[in-house]
Parts: sequence; C-alpha cells; structure tokens
Amino acid sequence: MYKFTSILEKDEKFSKQANKGVPTMNEVVAHLKILFAFKELRAQITTGVSDSAHAEKLWQCYVTVAVRRFNVFINALIDQKHPLKNFELLPPLDVLLVWHSFLLNPRSYYANFTTNLFPEFLSVPFPLHHVQKSIDDTKFVFAPTTDESDKFCVFMESYLVKIGSQERFTYDSYQPFDPSTMSFTITCPVCNSELGTVPLSTDNHTGFADAEFAFKAKRCECSQEMVVDHMELRFRKFTNDVKNTMTLTPVFKYCSPSLTKRELSMSQMDMKVKRLQPLLKQKEKF
Ligand SMILES: [Zn+2]
Repeated sequence: MYKFTSILEKDEKFSKQANKGVPTMNEVVAHLKILFAFKELRAQITTGVSDSAHAEKLWQCYVTVAVRRFNVFINALIDQKHPLKNFELLPPLDVLLVWHSFLLNPRSYYANFTTNLFPEFLSVPFPLHHVQKSIDDTKFVFAPTTDESDKFCVFMESYLVKIGSQERFTYDSYQPFDPSTMSFTITCPVCNSELGTVPLSTDNHTGFADAEFAFKAKRCECSQEMVVDHMELRFRKFTNDVKNTMTLTPVFKYCSPSLTKRELSMSQMDMKVKRLQPLLKQKEKF
C-alpha cells in the first residue's frame, strides 16, 4: 500500500510554474483514492441488489439526485456570497462526484459558470487535499469529521430556509437510498411556472430519472396542459435560450486562452462578454 511521504498542504490551482504542470506523486495518489471512494460509494448504494439492470437503475437515480444537490450547492454559494478564497467547505461525496465529473469537461464547466455569471467559482480548486484526508487508505470509505459535515449542513440549510424550502439537507445523501420515496418538482424552463411534481423513478420507467419520463404537466404561461417529457423540457430550454439576449454559451470559451487559441476581438463580442473578459483573464493568470 502506498504511504504518503508528505501530505498535500493545500489545494492549488493547476500551476504552470510548480512542477511544470505535472501532478506530484501525492496528487496522483490522492486522485486515485477519490476514484476508489466513488467506486466504493456505488458499491454501497447498490449493495444487496443482485440484478445488474436494477443496480444500474438505482445508480442512475442516485446520480440524478446528486446533480440536483450539486446545483443547490452552487446556488447556495451564489446566494450566500460564501467566500471562495481558501474554500473550506467539504461537500458530501455525491456532490463531489458531480463536481469532479463536471471538471472532466472543462469547456462545458467554463461555459456554464460564465453563462450563469458565477465565474468566481472557476478559481475554486477541487478540494483534493481536503477530500483525500477524509478517505481511509484501505477501504476507501469517505468519512469526514462530524464538524466538517455539520458545517456543510448548516451552510446548506441556511440557504434552504432563506428560499422558503421545506427540504432538509442530509449529508450522507439518503443512505440507504430508496428512489421510490423521492419526487422532483418540475418547473417550466421558459416561464418558471411549476408544472407538477413527479416521482424520481417508477416501475414503468416514467419517473424523472427514467428514460421514458413523461407526465401530464399543468398549464403554464407559455403552454397549455400537455404531456411533457425530457425532449419537451430540452426544447423549451432551447427556445428560451434562442429568445434570450444572453450570449450563447459556446461563445464564452473564446474568453479563455487556456481553452482556445482563437480569441474574439472586442468588436465581435457583445456587452456581457466584454464585461466578463477582463475578470476571466485575470483569473487565468496564475
Ligand atoms: Zn411555461
């Protein structure tokens, strides 16, 4: 078993100066520990399920909930104006799983946070050091201290209370995980009206996390009562983006010299990109 010769003192942005951008041995081992912890998480969620199709479905539902929890986490950071420098919060493992997966697609990650006017989060390194300290070296179980989990729950619940949500934040992400007890409220991507509440998963595969998702949505400002599925939600999101005067998401990558060599000239950019560009460039100088 690998023994750490020295711990990672802190999480740092990918640095061109330090070690010529090549990860250190400890960083690689820390990363592998996290990947093993994700594997262990999946084993825990699907434990006792012998049918592989059922296990796959259970994991799909779990990840769907995890994505939503990551979104709530990001919204809480924006709303609470939480300090991002020396980021000390330790999210639960399912939220870290989504964060880590999202980072594997840097363009999408970059575009998402710039489009949603939260480019500050691009400077927050994935908490590699903090996470690996909470994973044991033999079974790779993620077990942060009570202080760490409590601190995160207090942060999330203060946000949920502020927005009037009845939801309580559970750090251990609903273990044992039972999707049959869960439901999602669906809102219209165009007018934000509530379209209805749907189960996460159903036996006939029509829940929100299912491939054949469909439900009878309430009438909203932009549509009559109708059957809505994933495609209809994507279509409404697309039409909303087309009508919106907001810069189209793929444009933002041209603000980043790390993501593209072809930068837009000032005359090619709209006002929103112009406003963001100096901030983004400053953040890339490390
Ligand atoms: Zn609508």
